[in-house]
Amino acid sequence: MIRKTALVVGATSGIGLEVVKKFVNNGYDVFATYNKGDLCDLEDIFVGLDSKLYTCKVDVKNAQDIKNLFKKIEKDVDFLDCVVYCPGISYDEKMLIDVDDEEIEEILNVNLKGAIIAGREAMRFFVKRKHGSIIFISSIYGIYGGACESVYSASKGGMIALSKAMAQECGAFNVRVNCVAPGFIDTKMTAKFNEEERERIIESTPLKRLGRVDDVANAVGFLASEESSFITGQVIEVAGGAVKF
Ligand code: NAP
Repeated sequence: MIRKTALVVGATSGIGLEVVKKFVNNGYDVFATYNKGDLCDLEDIFVGLDSKLYTCKVDVKNAQDIKNLFKKIEKDVDFLDCVVYCPGISYDEKMLIDVDDEEIEEILNVNLKGAIIAGREAMRFFVKRKHGSIIFISSIYGIYGGACESVYSASKGGMIALSKAMAQECGAFNVRVNCVAPGFIDTKMTAKFNEEERERIIESTPLKRLGRVDDVANAVGFLASEESSFITGQVIEVAGGAVKF
């Protein structure tokens, strides 16, 4: 049996790490990128299993890093089935009037420009081979907007528009492009919220709990699989029904 291979950009923690677990459970080999995070948790997933792990250091703010990553993939494997773009940053919540130029640039570079460049490189790879699924991790803030998260919301909304445009461009090449838009998921990114804030978030979530990383990874697993072979240009919200917190 030919083993499938997935690329997970931003794989060292939180949602990205769980997405790697999902692929390994589904029998994939995985290309995983890291930036500042360490590889221990990632490597632990593969211990005693047949799935292969390839790693590459990528700072998505650096376009050349992303291009080098795809060169390495071309060299190391014949085929790639799926690319998942997970990197994302946000700052402490504040009104847009208090956000400085550097923060705007940093958020847009990681969340949106990196996604555009990774999307372009993935599309070049997949269109040539007439096969592939690209999945961007967006956010419900990219759909509904989040107060005091204007720049983050804009970056994640841009990502949704990007995926819809790409889906139209490359559908004829059997390449699918979709987004997963999580709500509040319990990870390092949301560790800054205290107990009282978490209770408020649970209260404003129709399913009355916080999201888990495996909730997101399950949606990614579906969009990567043949079970979603007629789905492209879509956004799956994984938010327990929440539209704002
Ligand atoms: P996380 O654990 O903080 O993960 C963030 C990831 O982004 C890490 O893998 C980190 O890699 C990577 N990253 C940051 N800057 C990077 C850069 N310059 N170059 C390469 N990688 C970079 O947070 P998470 O919650 O799992 O977030 C994953 C994605 O889900 C993000 O896009 C986030 O916006 C989105 N999301 C999260 C939630 C939530 O509630 N947690 C909700 C909606 C959307 P290193 O550690 O190696 O630097």
